Amino acid sequence: MADRYLSFTGTAPGRFLTRRLGLPQPAPLRRWSRESPEFEGGVLLLTAGKSELSGLEFPAPSEAPAAVLLDATGVRDVEGLAEVHAALHPVVRSVAASGRVVVLGAPLDPADHHQAAAQQALEGFTRSLGKEIGRGRTVNLVRLTDASAAESTLRFLLSPRSAYVSGQVIEVGRAQEADVDREHTLAGRTALVTGGARGIGAAVAETLARDGARVVVLDVPAASADAEQLAARLGGSALALDITAPDAGARIAEALPDGLDVLVHNAGITRDRRLANMPAERWSSVLDVNLASVLRTTDALLKAGTLRRGGRIVATASIAGIAGNTGQTNYGASKAGVVGLVRSLAPRAAAEHGVTVNAVAPGFIETKMTAAVPLFIREAGRRMNSLGQGGLPVDVAETTAWLAHPASGAVNGQVVRVCGQSLLGA
Ligand code: NAD
Repeated sequence: MADRYLSFTGTAPGRFLTRRLGLPQPAPLRRWSRESPEFEGGVLLLTAGKSELSGLEFPAPSEAPAAVLLDATGVRDVEGLAEVHAALHPVVRSVAASGRVVVLGAPLDPADHHQAAAQQALEGFTRSLGKEIGRGRTVNLVRLTDASAAESTLRFLLSPRSAYVSGQVIEVGRAQEADVDREHTLAGRTALVTGGARGIGAAVAETLARDGARVVVLDVPAASADAEQLAARLGGSALALDITAPDAGARIAEALPDGLDVLVHNAGITRDRRLANMPAERWSSVLDVNLASVLRTTDALLKAGTLRRGGRIVATASIAGIAGNTGQTNYGASKAGVVGLVRSLAPRAAAEHGVTVNAVAPGFIETKMTAAVPLFIREAGRRMNSLGQGGLPVDVAETTAWLAHPASGAVNGQVVRVCGQSLLGA
């Protein structure tokens, strides 16, 4: 559904009127396109504290850099934080519209509470700057120990592909080996997207195919026509299957005798009612699609060895699972359950299967699901975030593609919100 307010504020009278009335002025976001896949304007590299990182190379900045990368990994105390201010204060205004600020931090040192205080301070700093920076610009914090392991993450966050990801703290672990073709990063890999016939799932399938994956579009038999059409367009295949079927995992394994590299748990439903009015059937159907089937198929595909080493699982949570939402005790519980699954399974899946497990947690995304929300609630949902607008399915898809990237093996157990820094659950 079109965001008419966003279109209006993009016109001269719209800008004038909204400024005079003190109304939100969301900026149109610059997203990836084939003609213009990267920002022009380069990356301004800054340092606060004594950095131990090396090997960060990006195009040199122009006068209005598209992005600022501040290496604050060496900040160990309050004096070091003054260097964060000194580095960013003079340049923050010059960052181009839709540009990026990425702060690099270090893991909190349990043996040094001054370092931990200073590094945690970067989180509050990042989230606050994200709220005030405006003009479609985003601010994120990456905690890392090894810059080479963070390359795919930094490339994503410093690119137009992360347009709706802001105010996030992402932890990147140790480097893993990866052989990556930059043009087609998923070339030779097979990806399965549940609920892929429409909405966010269809965008995920398109984006993974763009990056070179052979895509399997799984959806309920009633959606087979759409699933088949999309799969044919992407040169992939469709699998008509209700993911809640007890043998769904076995049927996926059977359909993929050569194995699977990327498993995207996207299928999801809502059946909203306040708890006092919610029959057991509404509770169980949501828990079954959104959580139990995710657990069952994950277990089955890991056990069968269908998910190959170097594989990626990307599950779909929601800010409703983080902040809670009226009328969504079932949905909120199911999506919070996905977060629990990711946190617990990620280290074990990496150690035992060489597979990473992460989640995307969308905020307000413009789909059929949110188009059905009543007007005033929809408008509030769209505006109550730092970017002042809803995200697009492609924003979730780009985040999924980064997590699915062969070079993202050091990103594990993360829940990344794609919410424009929503005020809910912040
Ligand atoms: P959607 O309703 O447009 O699409 C969901 C797809 O899942 C449909 O194609 C549907 O047929 C399929 N599906 C449902 N039950 C299934 C089952 N049992 N087996 C196989 N496929 C099944 O929804 P969407 O807005 O694209 O949402 C996609 C995911 O993102 C969901 O998990 C949703 O909870 C989550 N999410 C969406 C938003 C948003 O703003 N749209 C926000 C947060 C989270």
